[in-house]
Amino acid sequence: MATDYKFEGWMGESAESADGKMVWKEFEPKKWEENDIDIKVTHSGICGSDLHTLRSGWGATRYPCVVGHEIVGVAVRVGSKAEGNIKVGDIVGVGAQSDSCLGRGPKPCKPCQVDEEPYCINGNINTYGSLHRNGDKAYGGYALYHRAPSHFVVRIPEGLAPEYAAPMLCGGVTVYSPLRHWGVGPGKKVAVAGVGGLGHFAVLFAKALGADEVVGISRRASKRDEALALGCDDYIATEDDADWAAHNAHRFDVIISTVSSAKMPLAEYLTTLALDGSMVQVGAPEEPVPLPVFPLILGRRSLAGSAIGSPKEIREMLQFAADKKVKPLVELRPMADANQAIVDMDAGKARFRYVLVNDN
Ligand code: NAP
Ligand code: ZN
Repeated sequence: MATDYKFEGWMGESAESADGKMVWKEFEPKKWEENDIDIKVTHSGICGSDLHTLRSGWGATRYPCVVGHEIVGVAVRVGSKAEGNIKVGDIVGVGAQSDSCLGRGPKPCKPCQVDEEPYCINGNINTYGSLHRNGDKAYGGYALYHRAPSHFVVRIPEGLAPEYAAPMLCGGVTVYSPLRHWGVGPGKKVAVAGVGGLGHFAVLFAKALGADEVVGISRRASKRDEALALGCDDYIATEDDADWAAHNAHRFDVIISTVSSAKMPLAEYLTTLALDGSMVQVGAPEEPVPLPVFPLILGRRSLAGSAIGSPKEIREMLQFAADKKVKPLVELRPMADANQAIVDMDAGKARFRYVLVNDN
């Protein structure tokens, strides 16, 4: 069956596209398979990863590339073998992962068998920039339509606005997952390093999970009022106090770091962890980061990483957000203005997440 709609979107054709030079083009989505779902995109969040990818910051990007992996829209075509009982007309979403081996890969894959698809050992397939299992290229959500394997499509629960749900699909779950995994809740003191898109979700979710204390650690004093308004109990601006780490030593049980600069003050962050505390790095720098060993040894501290979240965790997070009335701070931008929006995002102007909106 041919579709009566066209797949068009903002195409990055080279590293210069990250400077606001994406071009609007038609593209060929993956070949339709009966476990796929087509989505008419209404909302698409702008994630820091979109910029890394457009500029080939993590290695050569497969251009041409349509980025965007915080996709919400209406299911317009549902394959006969689709999972999840999704019907045409449902409001659905897709995050940063679009496929994995699902336990059927060449190597036996424990993660996929236990709902940990982001850690698929046969190689997870990203919503954009990857090749699907059938060899076709994956294109993301700065577009009119998106085609995704149904295992990675989730229904947006009642009571959660699509513009809130969209940025949760990557930015939200990337911090929700480690907050849950590291047991954040009553009795835990949490710091969030880098109060940007992911960081603001970390503050909102840590508070909603009942952490005793949630503290933003940012470079800039200028974000203090916004961070406190978000729900931070305290705020540390590293530019304000050369001894900020010593002044906050042994304070936190968990740090979620969304910072993506290789020049991040890692030793200082670790110093603020209590005995047996854990720092979880989710920001993904383009350069290697030197490892400060002594702060790890001296406090029996741990340094860990975490990748996005599985469809199961995304569903849990969306329901949690709906039940707890978690209210992200998003700024809606017309899809037509995507180039200006990514330039503004790169300049750190988003408070705290831009969401592109199609008026179709
Ligand atoms: P964002 O909105 O730009 O936030 C990043 C924050 O990092 C900034 O707001 C800034 O906070 C802080 N930062 C500190 N030093 C910086 C520097 N030298 N340059 C730029 N920012 C600096 O981006 P995001 O969407 O939250 O994404 C953050 C990172 O997470 C990106 O690297 C992204 O690729 C990565 N990510 C990882 C995963 C995963 O699975 N692990 C998933 C999604 C995204 P202050 O101004 O408060 O200092
Ligand atoms: Zn992302």
